[in-house]
Amino acid sequence: MKNYPLSLSIRNVSKTYANGTQALDNVSLDIPSGLFGLLGPNGAGKSTLMRTLATLQEPDEGQIFLGNIDVVNQKEEVRETLGYLPQEFGVYPKVSAEELLDHFAVLKGIINRAERREVTETLLKQTNLWDKRKQKLGGFSGGMKQRFGVAVALLNNPKLLIVDEPTAGLDPAERVRFLNLLGELGENSVVILSTHIVEDVSELCTHMAIINKGQILLEAQPMEAVAALKGRIWHKLTDKSTLPALEQAHQVISAKMLAGRTMVHVYNQESPGNGFEPVEPDLEDLYFSTMAGHYVQPQTLKEEKK
Ligand code: ADP
Repeated sequence: MKNYPLSLSIRNVSKTYANGTQALDNVSLDIPSGLFGLLGPNGAGKSTLMRTLATLQEPDEGQIFLGNIDVVNQKEEVRETLGYLPQEFGVYPKVSAEELLDHFAVLKGIINRAERREVTETLLKQTNLWDKRKQKLGGFSGGMKQRFGVAVALLNNPKLLIVDEPTAGLDPAERVRFLNLLGELGENSVVILSTHIVEDVSELCTHMAIINKGQILLEAQPMEAVAALKGRIWHKLTDKSTLPALEQAHQVISAKMLAGRTMVHVYNQESPGNGFEPVEPDLEDLYFSTMAGHYVQPQTLKEEKK
């Protein structure tokens, strides 16, 4: 039988917490194998969705299927094939990376010592921690801890790997290394990265979604969606004092300080005049346009959903 790549299907998932906060509002997503970026601001509902996929909490409504496993009702089956790296990955500071990984491997049921040695060696090498294996985890940098967390999450060879806001607090080099690792892992499983950092959703992500206030605003392939914005983003370098007037007159999507001045990006279907120049759109423009309600789902994807 042909081995089809695994995918995750989320259908009409909603969740309201006991205090009345609606964290997820009718979320539907199709997540194929590869690295999937779930992008949204703080409070958007990302962690709620990640914890739900990781079987740590249940939705009020909706269905989730990993291949043909019903995630909500077959939790044990999901857990056998799930790796989950929470926002804060706690470690025992006085133990070495090698010892702690070995300990977790025992907990995962890898009883045979030789097998365990082989598995831990492979994972420490894969996460680029082999040279640091004798070092105590208390001395690890943020990026090293996160990579160690991935090594732990990979112990049971997951088909679904969920990493929730993993790059907060990482320096740029560590961040790139970490994202590259996720990109590699996405080559043969579903890897979901949730983040509020636009640059995390780079060309490494094969698919992405933007979530805000519990709703999916956009579901797309990053490069395709950025390309679809071409001709609609305009910029101008100006003084900060002019910003309120520009915001009145135009659909300003972002304003950033640049060498003491302000770089303003606006969304407009044709030239807005007023000294604005066309600019090649990037992922940040896609994010801010979408958040401001100016961007529509590429038609092809919309059609596919019907
Ligand atoms: P994100 O991960 O995107 O920051 P969350 O899923 O953590 O978003 O939160 C979504 C919304 O749900 C926020 O308004 C948050 O305050 C609220 N929320 C999250 N967890 C709980 C909880 N256990 N009880 C009540 N409200 C919660």
